[in-house]
Amino acid sequence: TIPVITLDGPAASGKGTVAELVARELGFHYLDSGALYRIATLAALKAGVDPADSEGLTAVAEKLSPVFENGRILLEGEDVTLAIRSEEVSRATSKVAVVPGVRRALFDLQRRAARAPGLVADGRDMGTVVFPEAPLKVFLTASARVRAERRYKQLTARGETADLDLLTKDLEERDRRDRERAEAPLKPAADARLLDTTEMGIEEAVKKVLDWWTT
Ligand code: C5P
Repeated sequence: TIPVITLDGPAASGKGTVAELVARELGFHYLDSGALYRIATLAALKAGVDPADSEGLTAVAEKLSPVFENGRILLEGEDVTLAIRSEEVSRATSKVAVVPGVRRALFDLQRRAARAPGLVADGRDMGTVVFPEAPLKVFLTASARVRAERRYKQLTARGETADLDLLTKDLEERDRRDRERAEAPLKPAADARLLDTTEMGIEEAVKKVLDWWTT
């Protein structure tokens, strides 16, 4: 069996960065499952599918064939790497992600990412639903304010304008939707290790996960 490390947690908890660095350190593949939900959402927005149309959203997710190439994401030949990170897509994605058919459609895509020599997968339900057999499951947390500040820095570093209070509100709303949905709600797996990064730098968090992996 392929070794898998899962990193789940709320928005902007640092799991993406930590997961990528852990994967690089171990020479493992990296799965950004949130990107799949974002791509499905962008594809639905582009196709003009009504956000309340579960069947329409499911059909879009079933037809999805994104290409991951040198850190870029291509959708039907178009580079959507930046587009899927916009606040508009972020907000819409947590609504699309409640649709069971969408989650089912993306399940196989995610399972197929587990290839030798191993995988680090980040998301909301990696440890609970997609890779329940993973030998190491980590659940990252951080206060909403600290997470909003991290997102703020990311956005302004890209030259975008951002409002810290609005970002905090958006994050909290997204987390609530992710936690309260019926299908695959955001929660730690029963056997997950908790990692609070509120006052922890990226390097320390990476080291902690690597320590857990090797001991
Ligand atoms: O991780 P990221 O913020 O990119 O995820 C965007 C949204 O996709 C989340 O707010 C959540 O609603 C959804 N998602 C999910 N399950 C995952 C990963 C992401 O429902 N495994």
